[in-house]
Amino acid sequence: MSLFEVLQAAPAAFILLCLFLGLIVGSFLNVVIHRLPKMMECGWLQQCAEMRGEEVRESPAYNLLVPRSACPHCNHAISAWENIPVFSYVFLRGKCKGCGVGISVRYPLVEAISGVLCAYAGYHFGFGMAALGAMIFIWALVALAAIDFDTQLLPDDVTLPLLWLGLIFNLFGTYTSLPTAVIGAMLGYLVLWSVYWLFKLVTGKEGMGYGDFKLLAALGAWFGWQMLPLIILLSSLVGAVIGITLIVVMRHGRNIPIPFGPYLAGAGLITLFWGQQLTQMYLQLISAS
Ligand SMILES: [Zn+2]
Repeated sequence: MSLFEVLQAAPAAFILLCLFLGLIVGSFLNVVIHRLPKMMECGWLQQCAEMRGEEVRESPAYNLLVPRSACPHCNHAISAWENIPVFSYVFLRGKCKGCGVGISVRYPLVEAISGVLCAYAGYHFGFGMAALGAMIFIWALVALAAIDFDTQLLPDDVTLPLLWLGLIFNLFGTYTSLPTAVIGAMLGYLVLWSVYWLFKLVTGKEGMGYGDFKLLAALGAWFGWQMLPLIILLSSLVGAVIGITLIVVMRHGRNIPIPFGPYLAGAGLITLFWGQQLTQMYLQLISAS
């Protein structure tokens, strides 16, 4: 019996594998969330310097792999056993081994969210292409939501490959047919682009960024144009719930901009698992009334 046959025959083993994979990649997502915006900023500064004809200084290597993870407080290098997803945080009681300063609860949270969502993807889709794609989709959206929350940026380095991947998976009809996926990508971009310009013409302000258009285009590429109304409706709902919670619980000022990316990401994840059912319910409601 090959490994593939075992995983096909034993769904529980596959779900467990997805959970572990989700936890391990979740740990890497923390690095991406922390470093990718800094890498982008470095790149922009370097481009500006080059355009001004200034000498570009050689800076020490800084990317997703180098340097090794260290405590931001005391620079204590994080060893392998201190880097086990979720468990290390519990063992260390949420404190750095070097200096005892608290470690942000965000790290184990991102790992746990990635692990649980991947395990659910394994359960929901079963062994196959759809589960593999779902996990990649989950990782991209978790990273995008956190980066947008921190920096109000949705990096092209994530949104554009996500769009292409959606089209590639649907080349084989994994989530929807290829024509609906292509139209979904086009309409996804156009819808928010139109909202952006309308809002700008009426209020003179910029309500969202170009990254939001690209993310909705990517979601359209994954699930087809038919899912776009549901995604927009869900992201508005998720946005209202989170926005009100932030204002009430965290005394988040009403005028501080709340990025739209995390809501789109939340809507994308709901659509991944329950999009078909929700659309059917919605259509039944319309035809019943
Ligand atoms: Zn430390």
